Amino acid sequence: MAQDPDCIFCRIASGDVPADVVARTDRVVAFRDLDPQAPLHVLVVPVDHHRDVPALAAADPEALAELTGTAARVAAELGDGQFRFVFNTGAGVGQSVFHVHGHVLGGRPMGWPPG
Ligand code: C5P
Repeated sequence: MAQDPDCIFCRIASGDVPADVVARTDRVVAFRDLDPQAPLHVLVVPVDHHRDVPALAAADPEALAELTGTAARVAAELGDGQFRFVFNTGAGVGQSVFHVHGHVLGGRPMGWPPG
């Protein structure tokens, strides 16, 4: 599906809903998370609607590569280049918005394993 009018991240990607956008290409938009969990917390999303990262990888691997490149660019330009890149995939592990998004997290030490 190219766009879902009921999807909040489709509406942010189209500019219909405002967000603090930090990077944009034809296929990808990066914006600051409304509830940041680290000094750097940016979400990177494809403009087209795909529910999660396996769906994006199957349908449009070039967009997934562009998502990753944009995450690295944002981490380098807004931080020190080190980042954790998280795709929560499924409600049971914390996915709450079913439009694929990579969390770019940085700017503080992080433990492992994640909680
Ligand atoms: O991985 P998960 O689906 O839980 O992540 C959704 C993220 O989207 C949350 O970190 C939430 O703060 C963020 N969000 C946002 N702007 C919105 C709605 C959700 O930054 N309008």
